[in-house]
Amino acid sequence: MRRAVCPGSFDPIHNGHLEVIARAAGLFDEVIVAVSTNYAKQYRFALEERIDMARETLASLKGIVVEPVGDGLLAEYCRQRGVSAIVKGLRSSSDFDYELPMATMNRQLSGVETVFLPAEAHYLHLSSTLIKEVFTLGGSVSDFVPRSVLKRLHAGGSASETPPRG
Ligand code: ADP
Repeated sequence: MRRAVCPGSFDPIHNGHLEVIARAAGLFDEVIVAVSTNYAKQYRFALEERIDMARETLASLKGIVVEPVGDGLLAEYCRQRGVSAIVKGLRSSSDFDYELPMATMNRQLSGVETVFLPAEAHYLHLSSTLIKEVFTLGGSVSDFVPRSVLKRLHAGGSASETPPRG
């Protein structure tokens, strides 16, 4: 069983993410869409809602599991789950500059490889941040996100994450 992980915050999931996840599903037996939370970041959608949107959108694709990635190291998560590759979409050379040291570190920490897929030309300009900005300023984002995400954007999104107590 060749298992890969597509990690990200997916706040919200958009068509560029979906395209890369679908391509990963064609290369591996199982793809885990691992939804992360960084407590230093403000999210538009709470973790549960980001997971729900990914599940709703990916329901028709086989071999895809959506789950929270948790707080620890991605390398450790991969080791525990028997993941052989982290799949990342690359939009630009700045994505590559950002990703390369992480890929090398992850391989040194747990032996997991990182596979880079060049982003589809139509989606090179897409990021969750830009989509939220366009939407907030009244622009149409219906070409960039799946229907269930569009609905939730119109509904306003849930509260941002709050750090765990304790
Ligand atoms: P962001 O969209 O802000 O980068 P994420 O952390 O949710 O947010 O992205 C998760 C991963 O999805 C990224 O590391 C990248 O590999 C991939 N990705 C993001 N946007 C695109 C895109 N437009 N095309 C292809 N892959 C993308």
